[in-house]
Amino acid sequence: MVTVNQDVSRVIAAGTATSPGNVLAVLRDDGPMTRQELRARLGLSRATLMERLDTLTRLRVIDTVGHRASSGGRRAALLGADQTSRVAVVAHLGASLATVGVADLRGTVLAVHHERLPLGHEPRHVLPWLLDTAREQLSSLDRYADLAAVGFAVPGQIDHETGVSIMPPTMAAWRDQPLRDAFADGLGVSVQLENDANALAYGEYLAAGSPNSTVLGVWIGSGIGAGVVIGGLPHRGATGCAGEIGHIRIEDRDERCGCGRRGCVAALASGTALVRQLRSDGVRALPDVLRRVEAGEPRAVSLATDAGRLLGTVLATVVTILNPHRVRVGGEIGSLRPFLAGLRETLGEQAPEVAARGLDVGPAVLGDLAPLVGMAGLAAEAVFAPAAIDEAAARSRPS
Ligand SMILES: [Zn+2]
Repeated sequence: MVTVNQDVSRVIAAGTATSPGNVLAVLRDDGPMTRQELRARLGLSRATLMERLDTLTRLRVIDTVGHRASSGGRRAALLGADQTSRVAVVAHLGASLATVGVADLRGTVLAVHHERLPLGHEPRHVLPWLLDTAREQLSSLDRYADLAAVGFAVPGQIDHETGVSIMPPTMAAWRDQPLRDAFADGLGVSVQLENDANALAYGEYLAAGSPNSTVLGVWIGSGIGAGVVIGGLPHRGATGCAGEIGHIRIEDRDERCGCGRRGCVAALASGTALVRQLRSDGVRALPDVLRRVEAGEPRAVSLATDAGRLLGTVLATVVTILNPHRVRVGGEIGSLRPFLAGLRETLGEQAPEVAARGLDVGPAVLGDLAPLVGMAGLAAEAVFAPAAIDEAAARSRPS
């Protein structure tokens, strides 16, 4: 883990509205700007501004992004945040699928690898594989030296204080794993952990390019999760489990759920539920379900549509509470057309008209990369945070 020594802490405590981190924040929020505009905005002397810009250039977080004609006929350089010089390792782990990649801090995915995992997989096998794959990707892209952060999306609840994930029952072997420390020790940079449905929602929020819009993200793979971006950031709730809709109980249903209770929506409308419902047809695992639905097999299509309809009724309540601009649906099951059609049908029927009016419900526009793009965005927020920049500036100061 990165520790802050006492000297650095003092520098941070003394940080002012014109510290390097805050200069960068102004450029990110209101840039690009010329040096003159930045100086007028911050009320800095020319020498101080130059010193701040030197620091930010040394940290590779600002760049010349264009030019603007100025009064004297000379073209003035426009400065902006540099989101492409540094990269993040981004990963998404599920009950039966892992994705690991490298993205720049703008969210462009530069390398990606999907790996199907056996149900019941364990951290002692999967974590070293994730780290090795990320290292190989960084090396083959020749971007190892540019690594700034890790973003890791996982299902279930996260204790953001300790960096420990409290995984769903289908991933019991991952319970109470110190995931943040594992990645920080393995790759030597800071680590952002986020619920995967929140990561999906954040990726889709960034892709929509509509600041401050409310986006509900729903991920349906082996399990079911939802996440929401409100006010430009994922909403985590009091104990980090906002949006865990998979274990909402459906009245009069008795199917046993992996959580130990009965009648949960995850026991009826998830990938795991569809595998069970199609077992008598010879289905053994999630890929069999996907193949059959995509091939148009009537029973598989009908069950996927019903699963979507059932989840749509739950989402009608969620949409009533949140009144989002967009609902984006992802995951292997969520990407199936009959499932999404069923979901749209009941959501449209059962949400109150005022919440449903103009509501944009559709598949994740980023597809299965949505959680990775979301994690790249969250990694960027952490790297560019004023306190993180000021700490990096204090540590990098030439002695
Ligand atoms: Zn349950």
